[in-house]
Amino acid sequence: MGKRFALRYLWSLRARKPLVFQIGQSAQRLIISASVLNHFTKHQQLDNGSLEAGGQLFARFLDEYVTISKVTGPRAADHRSRYSYVPNRGEEQREINDMHRRGFHFVGDWHTHPEPIPTPSPSDISTINQAVAKSQHHLLGFIMVVVGNGSFPSSLHVSLNTATSHLQLLPTRYYSFAAGNGG
Ligand SMILES: [Zn+2]
Repeated sequence: MGKRFALRYLWSLRARKPLVFQIGQSAQRLIISASVLNHFTKHQQLDNGSLEAGGQLFARFLDEYVTISKVTGPRAADHRSRYSYVPNRGEEQREINDMHRRGFHFVGDWHTHPEPIPTPSPSDISTINQAVAKSQHHLLGFIMVVVGNGSFPSSLHVSLNTATSHLQLLPTRYYSFAAGNGG
Protein backbone atom coordinates (compact mmCIF):
# COMPACT_ATOMS: atom_id res chain seq x y z
CA MET A 1 0.00 0.00 0.00
CA GLY A 2 1.58 3.31 -1.08
CA LYS A 3 1.78 6.20 1.35
CA ARG A 4 -0.62 8.35 -0.60
CA PHE A 5 -3.09 5.53 -0.93
CA ALA A 6 -2.81 4.79 2.78
CA LEU A 7 -3.48 8.42 3.66
CA ARG A 8 -6.43 8.53 1.34
CA TYR A 9 -7.77 5.33 2.85
CA LEU A 10 -7.40 6.66 6.40
CA TRP A 11 -9.07 9.90 5.43
CA SER A 12 -11.97 8.03 3.85
CA LEU A 13 -12.49 6.22 7.15
CA ARG A 14 -12.56 9.53 8.99
CA ALA A 15 -15.20 11.05 6.75
CA ARG A 16 -18.00 8.84 7.96
CA LYS A 17 -20.07 11.49 9.73
CA PRO A 18 -22.49 13.64 7.78
CA LEU A 19 -21.92 17.39 7.70
CA VAL A 20 -24.68 19.89 8.43
CA PHE A 21 -24.84 23.39 6.96
CA GLN A 22 -27.01 26.35 7.91
CA ILE A 23 -29.08 27.80 5.11
CA GLY A 24 -28.71 31.52 5.71
CA GLN A 25 -30.70 32.71 8.73
CA SER A 26 -33.48 30.17 8.15
CA ALA A 27 -34.28 27.11 10.25
CA GLN A 28 -33.48 24.96 7.23
CA ARG A 29 -30.45 22.74 7.26
CA LEU A 30 -28.52 21.14 4.44
CA ILE A 31 -27.04 17.76 5.30
CA ILE A 32 -24.37 16.08 3.21
CA SER A 33 -24.41 12.38 4.01
CA ALA A 34 -21.29 10.40 4.84
CA SER A 35 -21.49 8.35 1.65
CA VAL A 36 -21.49 11.52 -0.44
CA LEU A 37 -18.51 12.89 1.51
CA ASN A 38 -16.71 9.62 0.88
CA HIS A 39 -17.44 9.92 -2.83
CA PHE A 40 -15.88 13.41 -2.79
CA THR A 41 -12.74 12.15 -1.06
CA LYS A 42 -12.23 9.58 -3.83
CA HIS A 43 -11.99 12.36 -6.41
CA GLN A 44 -9.97 15.00 -4.53
CA GLN A 45 -7.12 16.36 -6.65
CA LEU A 46 -4.36 15.16 -4.37
CA ASP A 47 -1.50 14.91 -6.85
CA ASN A 48 -0.15 17.02 -9.70
CA GLY A 49 -1.63 14.95 -12.47
CA SER A 50 -5.16 14.59 -11.16
CA LEU A 51 -7.99 16.07 -13.20
CA GLU A 52 -11.00 18.04 -12.09
CA ALA A 53 -13.98 15.82 -11.40
CA GLY A 54 -17.60 16.64 -10.81
CA GLY A 55 -21.18 15.54 -11.00
CA GLN A 56 -24.63 16.10 -9.63
CA LEU A 57 -26.18 16.14 -6.17
CA PHE A 58 -29.52 14.54 -5.27
CA ALA A 59 -31.52 14.99 -2.10
CA ARG A 60 -34.61 14.12 -0.16
CA PHE A 61 -36.60 16.68 1.80
CA LEU A 62 -37.91 16.06 5.30
CA ASP A 63 -39.30 18.91 7.41
CA GLU A 64 -36.58 21.56 7.47
CA TYR A 65 -33.85 19.16 6.39
CA VAL A 66 -32.51 18.80 2.88
CA THR A 67 -30.34 15.70 2.86
CA ILE A 68 -27.97 15.13 -0.04
CA SER A 69 -27.61 11.38 -0.05
CA LYS A 70 -26.92 10.54 -3.70
CA VAL A 71 -24.09 11.82 -5.87
CA THR A 72 -23.08 11.14 -9.47
CA GLY A 73 -20.01 11.65 -11.65
CA PRO A 74 -17.48 11.97 -12.98
CA ARG A 75 -18.45 10.19 -16.19
CA ALA A 76 -16.37 8.88 -19.09
CA ALA A 77 -18.14 11.33 -21.42
CA ASP A 78 -17.19 14.44 -19.38
CA HIS A 79 -14.45 16.79 -20.59
CA ARG A 80 -11.89 17.02 -17.82
CA SER A 81 -8.57 18.82 -17.35
CA ARG A 82 -6.53 19.97 -14.38
CA TYR A 83 -8.40 23.28 -14.19
CA SER A 84 -11.66 22.65 -15.95
CA TYR A 85 -14.60 20.31 -15.89
CA VAL A 86 -17.41 20.24 -18.46
CA PRO A 87 -20.06 17.61 -17.76
CA ASN A 88 -21.89 15.71 -20.47
CA ARG A 89 -25.41 17.20 -20.67
CA GLY A 90 -27.09 14.04 -21.96
CA GLU A 91 -25.70 11.96 -19.10
CA GLU A 92 -26.80 14.61 -16.61
CA GLN A 93 -30.39 14.50 -17.86
CA ARG A 94 -30.42 10.69 -17.75
CA GLU A 95 -29.23 10.82 -14.12
CA ILE A 96 -31.92 13.36 -13.18
CA ASN A 97 -34.65 11.16 -14.69
CA ASP A 98 -33.31 7.98 -13.08
CA MET A 99 -32.93 9.54 -9.61
CA HIS A 100 -36.37 11.12 -9.84
CA ARG A 101 -37.90 7.69 -10.36
CA ARG A 102 -36.15 6.59 -7.16
CA GLY A 103 -37.44 9.58 -5.18
CA PHE A 104 -34.30 11.72 -5.19
CA HIS A 105 -34.43 15.31 -6.40
CA PHE A 106 -31.70 17.15 -8.24
CA VAL A 107 -30.45 19.97 -5.99
CA GLY A 108 -27.15 21.02 -7.56
CA ASP A 109 -23.66 20.21 -8.73
CA TRP A 110 -20.21 19.48 -7.34
CA HIS A 111 -16.70 19.69 -8.79
CA THR A 112 -13.15 19.59 -7.51
CA HIS A 113 -10.41 22.22 -7.37
CA PRO A 114 -6.67 21.60 -6.81
CA GLU A 115 -6.51 23.93 -3.77
CA PRO A 116 -6.93 23.28 -0.03
CA ILE A 117 -9.44 26.07 0.67
CA PRO A 118 -11.55 26.08 -2.47
CA THR A 119 -13.38 29.13 -3.74
CA PRO A 120 -15.69 29.08 -6.75
CA SER A 121 -14.37 30.92 -9.80
CA PRO A 122 -16.42 33.77 -11.32
CA SER A 123 -17.31 31.38 -14.15
CA ASP A 124 -18.41 28.69 -11.66
CA ILE A 125 -20.83 31.22 -10.16
CA SER A 126 -22.13 32.57 -13.46
CA THR A 127 -22.62 29.02 -14.79
CA ILE A 128 -24.78 27.99 -11.84
CA ASN A 129 -26.68 31.32 -11.83
CA GLN A 130 -27.57 30.66 -15.48
CA ALA A 131 -28.52 27.05 -14.76
CA VAL A 132 -30.98 28.21 -12.08
CA ALA A 133 -32.42 30.80 -14.45
CA LYS A 134 -32.82 28.33 -17.32
CA SER A 135 -34.23 25.25 -15.58
CA GLN A 136 -37.68 24.47 -14.31
CA HIS A 137 -37.60 23.50 -10.65
CA HIS A 138 -39.28 24.17 -7.31
CA LEU A 139 -36.14 24.98 -5.37
CA LEU A 140 -35.03 28.19 -3.76
CA GLY A 141 -31.82 27.77 -5.70
CA PHE A 142 -29.17 25.22 -6.60
CA ILE A 143 -26.43 23.96 -4.30
CA MET A 144 -22.85 24.15 -5.53
CA VAL A 145 -20.14 22.21 -3.72
CA VAL A 146 -16.50 22.84 -4.60
CA VAL A 147 -14.27 20.09 -3.22
CA GLY A 148 -10.69 21.10 -2.45
CA ASN A 149 -7.71 18.86 -1.75
CA GLY A 150 -7.59 19.25 2.04
CA SER A 151 -9.65 17.91 4.92
CA PHE A 152 -13.36 18.53 5.45
CA PRO A 153 -15.22 20.70 6.20
CA SER A 154 -12.63 23.43 5.56
CA SER A 155 -11.89 22.00 2.12
CA LEU A 156 -15.54 22.14 1.04
CA HIS A 157 -17.10 25.32 -0.31
CA VAL A 158 -20.88 24.91 -0.16
CA SER A 159 -23.20 27.57 -1.55
CA LEU A 160 -26.83 28.24 -2.38
CA ASN A 161 -27.24 29.98 -5.71
CA THR A 162 -30.22 31.66 -7.31
CA ALA A 163 -30.33 33.23 -10.77
CA THR A 164 -28.83 36.40 -9.30
CA SER A 165 -27.24 35.53 -5.94
CA HIS A 166 -24.53 33.37 -4.38
CA LEU A 167 -24.60 32.59 -0.65
CA GLN A 168 -21.91 30.52 1.05
CA LEU A 169 -23.36 28.03 3.57
CA LEU A 170 -21.37 27.42 6.74
CA PRO A 171 -21.13 24.16 8.64
CA THR A 172 -22.84 23.88 12.01
CA ARG A 173 -21.09 22.26 14.90
CA TYR A 174 -23.86 19.94 15.89
CA TYR A 175 -25.45 16.95 14.33
CA SER A 176 -28.20 16.07 16.73
CA PHE A 177 -30.64 13.87 14.91
CA ALA A 178 -30.56 10.60 13.05
CA ALA A 179 -33.26 11.09 10.42
CA GLY A 180 -32.66 11.50 6.75
CA ASN A 181 -29.24 9.96 6.60
CA GLY A 182 -30.18 7.55 3.86
CA GLY A 183 -26.54 7.02 3.01
ZN1 LIG B 1 -14.47 25.58 -10.26
